Amino acid sequence: MGETRITARSGWRHSVRFRLLVIAILPMLVVMPMLLGGTFTQWSTKFDNLLIAKVNGELTIAHQYFANILETSEDKVKALGNSAIFANVIANLNEENIVAFLEMQRHEMGVDFLYLVDASGGYLAPSENIYYNHFANWPVVKSALDGRAHTAIDLFSSEDLALFSQALATRARIDLVPTQAAVPTDKIVESRGMVVHAAAPFEVNGQRGALVAGILLNRNLDFIDTINDLVYPAASLTDGSIGTATLFLEDVRISTNVRLFENVRALGTRVSAIVRSTVLDEGKVWLDRAFVVNDWYISAYEPIIDSHGARIGMLYVGFLDTPFRTAKTRTLWTTIAALLAAVFLSVPIFLRWARGIFRPLEGMLKTIAKVEGGELGARTGLTRTDDEIGQVALHLDDLLGQIQERDSRLRDWAAELNDRVDERTSELSDANKRLEATTKQLVVSEKLAAIGEITAGVAHEINNPMAVIQGNIDVVRQELGAATKDVETELRLIDEQVHSVSVLVSKLLQFARPDEYSGSVEIQNPNEVLSDCMVLVQHLMNKVRIDVEQGLNAQGGILMNRTELQQVLINLIVNAIQAMPDGGTLGLRTRNTTIDGIPGVSVCVQDTGKGMPKDVIDKIFDPFFTTKRREGTGLGLSISQTIINRYSGTISVESTEGVGTKFSLWLPLSEA
Ligand code: ADP
Ligand code: MG
Repeated sequence: MGETRITARSGWRHSVRFRLLVIAILPMLVVMPMLLGGTFTQWSTKFDNLLIAKVNGELTIAHQYFANILETSEDKVKALGNSAIFANVIANLNEENIVAFLEMQRHEMGVDFLYLVDASGGYLAPSENIYYNHFANWPVVKSALDGRAHTAIDLFSSEDLALFSQALATRARIDLVPTQAAVPTDKIVESRGMVVHAAAPFEVNGQRGALVAGILLNRNLDFIDTINDLVYPAASLTDGSIGTATLFLEDVRISTNVRLFENVRALGTRVSAIVRSTVLDEGKVWLDRAFVVNDWYISAYEPIIDSHGARIGMLYVGFLDTPFRTAKTRTLWTTIAALLAAVFLSVPIFLRWARGIFRPLEGMLKTIAKVEGGELGARTGLTRTDDEIGQVALHLDDLLGQIQERDSRLRDWAAELNDRVDERTSELSDANKRLEATTKQLVVSEKLAAIGEITAGVAHEINNPMAVIQGNIDVVRQELGAATKDVETELRLIDEQVHSVSVLVSKLLQFARPDEYSGSVEIQNPNEVLSDCMVLVQHLMNKVRIDVEQGLNAQGGILMNRTELQQVLINLIVNAIQAMPDGGTLGLRTRNTTIDGIPGVSVCVQDTGKGMPKDVIDKIFDPFFTTKRREGTGLGLSISQTIINRYSGTISVESTEGVGTKFSLWLPLSEA
């Protein structure tokens, strides 16, 4: 029979408790953080993009300011070239005056050098310092000599600067400072100068030439501070952030407000390799976080192109990233803290709810396990019915009650059934025994009937010739008269033999037709009949030494034919004596015994003879069964049983081999 068992599955992952916990905690511990994480990442990217957009705007401002300086310089040179005073000075052509004038104008314009070139090549000022051929090759100067004013950024070598003044060359010179993340270099000094190079044409009295001015940007701190002030006016940045602006000659800082230490500007430090390759090598604008000198900045770099179209430097603006990052981190932590607070506040509530569900479930599981373990009276004992689970528990208790009741009913039935089966079994075995006995009796009866038929026929056939023999012997006696004496012995022998044949025949007939031979039935005293029998068998007892023990205690009489009773008793006594060929004790006892409520007399004939094995005992009541060969007929016990049964009595035997045998008769007492 298949058995369905409700048992907790082995894996803890399958337990209701675990799953409910997951349901309770998952939203707070997984879904919420994922949502917040996603949102935060998105916000963070937007924030970064905003910062980049901001720095891009700032770079545009710086760029425009730079362009403005170039334009202003050009305008100034143009204005000077067109001024009356300049025409007047040139017209007078006093070189000393011109030099003084130019020097005065240079101061006034705030430029670092100012000179004139003659288009024809014959006129130079200040003549002793400046080599026309050398400077006329600058694209700006060429353009001015062609009649168009032009301004650009150009790189001047140290020697070129020295032509104007040694001080200018010295100012341009910047020692390189080893910088982390920069492209490695063997150079230790940058001596070139980055110059705002402006040139404008002039024509005085048919004499044409160019007026050229330059502003050295190396160490030009006014310039860079102005850009910085413009881009990052006070309070334009979050607390703690610092705005920075820098001008690079190639990758070297030649003018900056980035500090190396307190009040030491980071001149001579170099840009990181990545920025250098992006801006200088590829010509792109850099808009991203970058490591500047000693900290991270949100930065913007753009290349500076000279009059030849070469990338000779970079303009940079940027602001310190740290405060923004700090703000971002603070926001992140605040969010996490808020989430944790929410988790700590809400998870216990979820857990309590979940427990409210799994407690009764676990209770039910335990109860079912107990019931399976045989404790049929186990119940969940839950009384709350305000939810579905409580109702399920109540139902379960109900069902368990029904099961228990049915179980006990089944057990009762089973017990009753067992009793009935036992009863029937014993009845059946009794019936079986009876059937066996009946069958046996039937077989014996059949056998007896068949034997009886034959025996009766044979006996009659023998009786007639025997009667003839007996009659003729009597005739012989009469005829012989006195002569009889001579053959007396022979005649007696014939008489004896004829008698013994008659006895045998009568015995056979008695066996075959017992009813015909039963004779009169009277009340007999069993003790008396037994004593008479002893007289009849006395001659057998003389051969060997046999002691007789008598206990004749029976009272009352039994209704029976005396001869038949005697025949039975003699048969038993003879058998007993024959069983003791070497002598022994013969026990004879009578007493009153009631069987099945019927008062009766029991007669015991007991010997201390050889006894019988079991297989012999089973057959002794069969007709013609004998172990005595010639001596016995095997009819004695068979006839005795038939006689006793006819008087509603019983005959039984107990025997032990080598110890002795005891035959018991029981006959009902006569009522008279
Ligand atoms: P018979 O005496 O002619 O043999 P019975 O019917 O009287 O026939 O006895 C049948 C057999 O029962 C005997 O041959 C003998 O083997 C056995 N028997 C009867 N009585 C006794 C006894 N008292 N002790 C031992 N064997 C006995
Ligand atoms: Mg016998």
